Amino acid sequence: MNTRTRAPMNTSTREHKEKNNWKQEGAFVVILGAGESGIGAALLAKQKGYNVFVSDKSQIKATYKEELINNKIPLEEGEHTIEKLKKANVIVKSPGIPDHISLIKELKNEGIPVISEIEFAAKHTIPTAKIIGISGSNGKTTTTKLTYHLLKTAGLNVDVGGNIGKSFARLLAENAQQGKNQRDYYVLELSSFQLDGIVEFRPYISILLNITPDHLDRYEYKMENYVASKFKLIQNQQSDDVFIFNKENENMKNWMQDKVLKPQQIPIDETSFNKNSIVFDDKQAIDMQLCSLKGTHNFFNASCAIQAAKLLGIDKDTIQKGINSFVNEPHRLELVATINGVDYINDSKATNVDAVYYALQAMDKPVVWIAGGTDKGNDYADIESFVKEKVHTIICMGVDNQKLLEYFTPIVKNIEETSSAAEAVQRASIYAEEGDVILLSPACASFDLFKNYIDRGNQFKEEVQKLKIQ
Ligand code: ADP
Repeated sequence: MNTRTRAPMNTSTREHKEKNNWKQEGAFVVILGAGESGIGAALLAKQKGYNVFVSDKSQIKATYKEELINNKIPLEEGEHTIEKLKKANVIVKSPGIPDHISLIKELKNEGIPVISEIEFAAKHTIPTAKIIGISGSNGKTTTTKLTYHLLKTAGLNVDVGGNIGKSFARLLAENAQQGKNQRDYYVLELSSFQLDGIVEFRPYISILLNITPDHLDRYEYKMENYVASKFKLIQNQQSDDVFIFNKENENMKNWMQDKVLKPQQIPIDETSFNKNSIVFDDKQAIDMQLCSLKGTHNFFNASCAIQAAKLLGIDKDTIQKGINSFVNEPHRLELVATINGVDYINDSKATNVDAVYYALQAMDKPVVWIAGGTDKGNDYADIESFVKEKVHTIICMGVDNQKLLEYFTPIVKNIEETSSAAEAVQRASIYAEEGDVILLSPACASFDLFKNYIDRGNQFKEEVQKLKIQ
């Protein structure tokens, strides 16, 4: 048939076809949101020859804007020009933008695929690169950093990023720019928001640490939606991939009970470790006495990381070396100093009761506990028995300490109010005796007295250092 006489293709079908064909060079990629993931995606898209446009409803951070301008990537800020966005072949949406807002619905109605930066980056990773994807409600950063450290110690060609540090897309863009080949391994911390926007992303090893209620506002206040989002981590895994998971977490057990899972499974539970060591295989264990990670929850995290390293062929002695030399991220059960026989521990990242539960569980000395800040509807019942057993003094550090005072005054010997890090450290040091520990593990957000949990932890550390020179 002569093509000229053929009836024209229905416009919407044609547009739909074109829009789904975004993997070609020159396709129009719109990046929504200019945070770390958006900028990473923009840099990678530009490098791969796409036609790129970045759109952010707010003002873009100066350093990010500079990067876009230097790379000749067009942008808009303070608004979204919807007509322009509708011309996209694909939308790469930042994890901070919810799916349910009208803008996203409108773009999806146009038939435009909306994906996350993780999906976009995965599409541009060489097939031989192996991805270790790590998610969970708590412990992601610790496990990601440790896994990376074990692989690095073994001399593997590995990079780390995702929800921490550099975005996955940025890692790929920078590696290519510096003339390096892509890495053999990428260890990625993944949030549920990042997982929401994946389609084909497939980690070789997935680690799912735990699922407890979090971010429910983004999931129609339905726990099952949040759980389903976390399990997207394994949706594309095949039988030669591996899934390392928490065997004891109720939410995970419920989800898994009626599913047939494709990847090989490595369950982790309390039999995977004991007080001072972690199971390596049937006969051998990794000694944890020199490791800076303390507490059951961290042994659990370490167990997952060790199994991942072992799967990648790293031998026991090298893993032991990595475990001994690992330094965790600051503000997570961080030993700041020991002064006059008293340990000062900074756990400023513990912004909820669950995290304090694990912190107190990990303490094996009498505790002076510094707590307080912006309460997020805390229920202290879960930690009451640990407080009775281990804490002799509570130093409240917040603008409004009423709830802590009411709950704990009948339970502990000493309880006092303070309203700065300096005052809290001073008072705590008066109550602590040789052999005690002073633990900053607030159970609350930090926004009443501090900029964020990092500022709070840093101020605590500065005050501890001042004690040293007194
Ligand atoms: P995330 O990146 O998921 O927020 P982090 O490693 O930064 O996790 O730890 C956040 C807080 O949760 C810290 O206070 C830490 O002590 C606590 N935590 C770490 N691992 C676990 C775990 N497996 N279960 C429960 N709490 C944990």
